[in-house]
Amino acid sequence: MSDCLFCKIVKGDIPSNKVYEDELCLAFYDIDPQAPTHFLVIPKTHIGSVSEVNEENAAVVAHIFTVIAKVTKELGVDSYRVVSNIGEQAGQSVFHLHFHVLGGRDMTWPPG
Ligand code: AMP
Ligand code: ZN
Repeated sequence: MSDCLFCKIVKGDIPSNKVYEDELCLAFYDIDPQAPTHFLVIPKTHIGSVSEVNEENAAVVAHIFTVIAKVTKELGVDSYRVVSNIGEQAGQSVFHLHFHVLGGRDMTWPPG
């Protein structure tokens, strides 16, 4: 999508601090980190949020979770939280599917 911030990051039109990249997904550090380790993992194809995941596009989501498992191990982060906000009330501000990976500090439950 031409006016999507994360599609622009995928294309390289907006720079990002990359953690990992392959043909299906991209991981990069969040510009406003909420934990000592905070990166985002996104599919390279535009999916609006978890609410747009279906049988046709779900494989990339499974792949993203393998990437999260691998990259956190490489970074030495063994306790972390994976979050995806869906919709404005839940705090979604960028409408391209992304998984926050947060670690390196104590977390509370329930989340705010
Ligand atoms: P959400 O609010 O759950 O949609 O998450 C969007 C996240 O994208 C926020 O944590 C922002 O800090 C982050 N973000 C916005 N713009 C950029 C950018 N140019 N590079 C990296 N992270 C960004
Ligand atoms: Zn997009």
